[in-house]
Amino acid sequence: MAEPADIYEKVMELAKRRGFIWPSAEIYGGVAGFIDYGPLGAQMKRRIEDAWRAFYVIREGFYEIECPTVGVEPIYVASGHVKGFSDKMCQCPHCEEYLRADHVAAAGGIGNAAALSAEALGETLKSLPCSACGEELGEVRVFDFNLMFNTWIGPGSQRKGYLRPETAQGIFTDFPRLLRFYRDKLPFGAVQIGKSFRNEISPRQGMIRLREFTQAEAEIFVHPEGKRHPRFDRYREYAVPLLGCEEQCGKGEPVLVTMGDAVKKGLVANEYVAYYIALTHDILVTVGVDPARLRFRQHLTTERAHYAADCWDAEALSKRFGWVELVGIADRTDYDLRAHACESGVALTAYLPLETSRMERRRRIIPDMKALGPKFRGRAKEVADALVKADPGPDGVEIEIGGERIAIPSSLYQVKEEQVEVRGVEVMPHVIEPSYGIDRMCYAVLEHSYDEDMVEGEVRRVLHLPPAIAPVQVGVFPLVSRDGLDRVAAEVASLLTAAGIFTEFDESGAIGRRYRRQDEIGTPYAVTIDYQTMEDGTVTIRERDGMAQVRVKKDTLAATVRGLLGGHTAFASLGP
Ligand code: ATP
Repeated sequence: MAEPADIYEKVMELAKRRGFIWPSAEIYGGVAGFIDYGPLGAQMKRRIEDAWRAFYVIREGFYEIECPTVGVEPIYVASGHVKGFSDKMCQCPHCEEYLRADHVAAAGGIGNAAALSAEALGETLKSLPCSACGEELGEVRVFDFNLMFNTWIGPGSQRKGYLRPETAQGIFTDFPRLLRFYRDKLPFGAVQIGKSFRNEISPRQGMIRLREFTQAEAEIFVHPEGKRHPRFDRYREYAVPLLGCEEQCGKGEPVLVTMGDAVKKGLVANEYVAYYIALTHDILVTVGVDPARLRFRQHLTTERAHYAADCWDAEALSKRFGWVELVGIADRTDYDLRAHACESGVALTAYLPLETSRMERRRRIIPDMKALGPKFRGRAKEVADALVKADPGPDGVEIEIGGERIAIPSSLYQVKEEQVEVRGVEVMPHVIEPSYGIDRMCYAVLEHSYDEDMVEGEVRRVLHLPPAIAPVQVGVFPLVSRDGLDRVAAEVASLLTAAGIFTEFDESGAIGRRYRRQDEIGTPYAVTIDYQTMEDGTVTIRERDGMAQVRVKKDTLAATVRGLLGGHTAFASLGP
């Protein structure tokens, strides 16, 4: 087993050496908060994104959209990012390093530091050490630092723009078109995978806290009074370790609860939130997060956004970083659509036809223009428009125009009571949002899949990646590079490649070393061509985890490997 203390260094050493993760712009000294995915890392990341798509796009049927990474200012005024997307920062008076004030406080044992005001944080920091140089901070000023990168759009332009801090806003601003695309029905969902940008204050946690990172977000628009999920049965009996608000105040241990019970007991607000908690658990385990190191933590009322009905974080346990949030799942109510409707002036509602129409009594106000005209002259139309929307009493009504309150007597309008046929209702949908950080998922998968054992007196490093996520799917080796074995091995590799299987051909070095090279990048299977292949047309397949080997016919190899990779064939079923 790997040593707990230095697993991060071991994983990152392997990741750098084998081309998973590299420091960005390394030849210029690198820059904190940015990473490059090397050849194997980019491949693995794409496979994780595709596994995510298999759940959300293929299975849930939510189409993927792609919006620009630069957004105009009103988007982020409406979303609240311009005003409130900031972290509390301070500067160390000794080493001049900028620090996240709440992180320094949390590291110093201050509970719930993220919820403290700037003043309260400043007080707590006085006696705490700087996380960069270790000196006692003393008197420091704590202030808000907005995390958005800003820019100007077009040359000489006054049009301010921001690099998006999340992918979600593009989905909200496309809401009217998405609603039409989904034929004006609820519920529907749309997803986006792409880069987001946050100018994090002191990103010293490798892939966990980046300034440019990839998010995969789903926005599911539901009827505000319809939070029962139509396919809840899929996850009703699915059990997930939940650390609710109560457990956090108690023993701090999560409890394993089925989603059906979680909703019944009121632990999770509704079936939609529970459904996406279970689906998230399903995805994370599928891509290789260890279920024993995974929990779902409910936001405490002090950390939850005021508009959210419920909010849970999927957290993975890292030996280096502790519990790390990989995914946030929230019932955001109608906060986002309401905010954008207000800022843009566009009605972001859905008109939903009723199954059977109903008759309703309505009052209609009919302004008397002949009387309003001479009384209000140029403002008569404004007064009439306000009157139509007013709710008059028996003697008249007070309206407001441009901040001025005007009393209108009942002689200036008529009130008609009418019966109208109501065929539909206008609703502002609520949004359920599961928001995934792909880079943090990549790191958790690497850390959880990393292992070491001793084989023939040597340390064998292995990434126990699920076959669907491993960057290279099969290694193909001739036992020796002579006697025609290398030619046959090249043919076998072509056969596999032609079947769409990502294959690495390797003929250099001792066979044991070649196995080790594939083990440490997580390749699940290795195929070896030996002298027996030349006699009976069979090759060996070696499985990475158990290191067992079986012989199969060369002609059926591609189909067998496909079955193994897809999980339809068990390795043990192939023979002794
Ligand atoms: P944190 O509290 O860790 O800063 P957050 O709550 O602000 O994260 P969200 O806004 O909910 O994060 O974003 C959704 C997901 O995006 C997170 O669960 C995380 O996986 C990912 N994410 C957020 N910020 C970063 C970052 N700086 N680097 C890498 N991934 C990130």
